[in-house]
Amino acid sequence: MIFAHADYERERKFSADVVVIGTGAGGASAGAELAAAGHDVVFVEEGGHHPTSSFNPYITETIPRLYRDASATVIAGKPPIPFVEGRCVGGSTVINGGMAYRPPDRVLADWEKIAPELGARALEPYFESVENRVSVAPQHPDSIGEDSRMMQAGAKRMGWSFTVNQRNQRSCVGSNNCTMGCPTGAKQSTLVTYIPDALAAGARCLTEVRVERLLIEGGRAVGVVGRSVNPRTRKLDRPVEVRARAVIVACGAIQTPLLLLRQKLGRPGRQLGKNFTCHPNAKVLPIYPSEQCIEGWKGVSQAAQIREFHDEGILFAENFVPPGVMAAYMPFHGDEIWEAMSNYNQSIMSGVLVEDSTTGRVSRLPFGAPLIRYDITKLDHERFLRGIKLLAEMHFVMGADRVILPFFNQHLARSVDDLKKIDVLQTCPSTLELFTPHLMGTARMGSDARGSVVDVNGELWDLPGCYIADASLFPTAIGVNPQITIMALAKRVAQHMSLAKQAA
Ligand SMILES: Cc1cc2nc3c(=O)[nH]c(=O)nc-3n(C[C@H](O)[C@H](O)[C@H](O)COP(=O)(O)OP(=O)(O)OC[C@H]3O[C@@H](n4cnc5c(N)ncnc54)[C@H](O)[C@@H]3O)c2cc1C
Ligand code: SF4
Repeated sequence: MIFAHADYERERKFSADVVVIGTGAGGASAGAELAAAGHDVVFVEEGGHHPTSSFNPYITETIPRLYRDASATVIAGKPPIPFVEGRCVGGSTVINGGMAYRPPDRVLADWEKIAPELGARALEPYFESVENRVSVAPQHPDSIGEDSRMMQAGAKRMGWSFTVNQRNQRSCVGSNNCTMGCPTGAKQSTLVTYIPDALAAGARCLTEVRVERLLIEGGRAVGVVGRSVNPRTRKLDRPVEVRARAVIVACGAIQTPLLLLRQKLGRPGRQLGKNFTCHPNAKVLPIYPSEQCIEGWKGVSQAAQIREFHDEGILFAENFVPPGVMAAYMPFHGDEIWEAMSNYNQSIMSGVLVEDSTTGRVSRLPFGAPLIRYDITKLDHERFLRGIKLLAEMHFVMGADRVILPFFNQHLARSVDDLKKIDVLQTCPSTLELFTPHLMGTARMGSDARGSVVDVNGELWDLPGCYIADASLFPTAIGVNPQITIMALAKRVAQHMSLAKQAA
């Protein structure tokens, strides 16, 4: 059963076995697991329930409806990094690109050193179960776009290795609307997988409620208190309370620490909010000659990732975006932007993703807003410059006329020779223009209370009955798209809770 704003006029107090805050990758996977095991589950989700039939490509309608703060969210640092998060039933899985990867073996080997439960062998059944449920499979060749084919052809021309992408999709027709909500239901977000599973098993979902604090009694988490969100004004109004035997916090790697910091939790190791990682991305936007009709909006983006430099922590991919979003990325005005956008059909939105070599921190400002600090390192800056030069060179080799670069003091390269100026002009990281949709690590798992926020089963060291099941859990960045790992870890957290209760 799904509740919305108007329903809290008559009913504001609920009880359950487990209350799960958030319905994204982690919350939905954990809640579905518990509901299937026979527990009474109540989800509390700040965003609204927007069904597949409501999705469209119009950004002025979609972004305020599905994205937190209409995507006007920025990490403070050198350079500042805009980031995006979903705020709707299904969370960020509703607006993500559908790439579905396990972490590389080297990452799981590192995690295994932290705790054997986090190694490849121990996590295998969880990955397998998640991949089956969200239908991870290669893309049908007919649904792949020309921008993707050009990227693969470019990699071949340069002699670079690439991996054909696995995506969580069934019968994807390549409508290229993934980041605005999949209008065919092909993308297997939690909106169309784990949430319906949980509802079918009897779970309830309180939408349009923002949780403001946990209920704590006798040193245990026993529920949550929040307020309903008016979907027209986005103002908080009626108080809503859910009492439960256990609480799962799955608000994502920014909102989870923000919520828990309010009650000064995460005390033993003072790690809550720290260890923030975000796989920053830099765009490399080539424009090909007018006779070359790429039409990147036809067919799914990112059929492959160029992994030649993955051991150095550098990955290349493309992700086509609607015209309004592309225009926002263009560093031009007036006639220049008009001319550049008239080449929309000849452009490829490609990018360089760098695996973090540092961490940042999420903290809570006095009025409850998040402050996220993250500065890229010298090493990451060098990796960006190397990646941008290589990717731009690939596009020139493929015949691009010009490449729009991600530097505010150097917008354009017209030839491979022009790329040499990067070494001269880009000596300071502040000139880089970055972006990220991957937010991780702010309540990391561990086997030592001094170095982590939760134990290896996801329970807070300093609050029994309170579990975390989202991207915050990652002990380190994983260097690839994170949703499958989040779902797998969340499922493991939920299974442990179920087993613990049965044993009790
Ligand atoms: C544009 C974009 C593209 C991406 N592409 C990919 C990709 O191709 N492959 C991939 O693997 N990953 C991708 N990701 C990342 C992936 O989707 C996220 O890492 C993942 O969904 C995060 O899961 P989560 O459970 O931590 O949080 P989310 O999925 O963000 O869910 C958190 C939920 O909690 C709710 N919430 C937050 N605070 C509160 C509160 N106080 N009260 C009530 N509810 C609250 C939010 O509204 C939200 O619905 C992408 C993300 C974006 C935004
Ligand atoms: S390309 Fe279109 S059909 Fe395929 S998953 Fe994305 S939005 Fe859905």
